[in-house]
Amino acid sequence: MNTVMKQLQGKVVTVRGPVEPSVLGQVMMHDHLHVDFYDWEKQQLITEEKPCSAERRRYLLDDAVPLLKECCNYGMGAFVDPTFPPTRAWPDVYREVSERSGVHIILCTGLYREIESGTYFVKTPNNAVWPYVRKATVEELAEMCVREITKGIHDTDIHAGAIKLGSSAPQMTELEIKSFQAGARAQKATGVHITTHCTKIGSETSQLKLLDQEGVDLRRVVIGHTAGHLMNAECRKACLDWMKRGANFLPTNMGIGKDGGTGWQSLVDAIHAVFDAGQGDKLCLGLDSGYCSESCPFTRVKFLPEPPFLHMFTHTLPAFRKMGLTPNEEDMIMRQNPQRIIPVQ
Ligand SMILES: [Zn+2]
Repeated sequence: MNTVMKQLQGKVVTVRGPVEPSVLGQVMMHDHLHVDFYDWEKQQLITEEKPCSAERRRYLLDDAVPLLKECCNYGMGAFVDPTFPPTRAWPDVYREVSERSGVHIILCTGLYREIESGTYFVKTPNNAVWPYVRKATVEELAEMCVREITKGIHDTDIHAGAIKLGSSAPQMTELEIKSFQAGARAQKATGVHITTHCTKIGSETSQLKLLDQEGVDLRRVVIGHTAGHLMNAECRKACLDWMKRGANFLPTNMGIGKDGGTGWQSLVDAIHAVFDAGQGDKLCLGLDSGYCSESCPFTRVKFLPEPPFLHMFTHTLPAFRKMGLTPNEEDMIMRQNPQRIIPVQ
């Protein structure tokens, strides 16, 4: 491990600097303050992070800060923001939102997947991924991630504290393989955790196999968007095998609609099954809520019921409790497991 990071062992790298894990309280493990993929006015992919406009900053301070403050009242002290360059806000925005809301933010560096053409803003393969990732080598990509964790993002003193990676299908593309190799190197150099985009059944295995081959300790990996994986009895077996080897799984997108979220009963049952198998320490939760420009100009995400962040505490967890989530399970998933996973190790 890098010597800078050795001194941070056991600490959490937040946008306000290193903190003790116990101050995190409950943690949402996958929510985005700012994912700006596409400029809908200019019909252009965003390829560079720039200081935020006054208008954008004001919008986030006015809309997100009060919601995050309310989350604090429910015991949440932090969220992991798994947004990757070049879609993040300028680093000072995260610090200001964190200071004003009192919520710690663990911001990611990392590399994203090739998004399927025909989905969201992606009309041609050209727009499927940050062009820099195509031309950069594994070494260059790893170096960028390490620099953002150890030195700071864009020459600020604001550091990334986790690594985001993603793949679109079980068969990873060449570019996704390159990204995972770079992310693995950065993980080993820094000791922060890796969190992934893994929506497709089977992708958990290709992602974990690759990271394992690259020598990443699977206890430092969180496989994200895996509610469907755990609700599928066959795939849950595969996930449990990976959990026995240390890997963590993160269901997301548990929006509770007017029906009270009855469709999520099988996820709560799956959580019990994971606890019964002795692997309850491998689960955490997030919503994937926040703000983005994926399918329209930058605003609150459209694919989840509102409000961002707070929905977890006002809707998701109360519904899950009605469906049988126990206080012990909730405490492990929301507090104990994140506080173990996030610190530098
Ligand atoms: Zn996400």
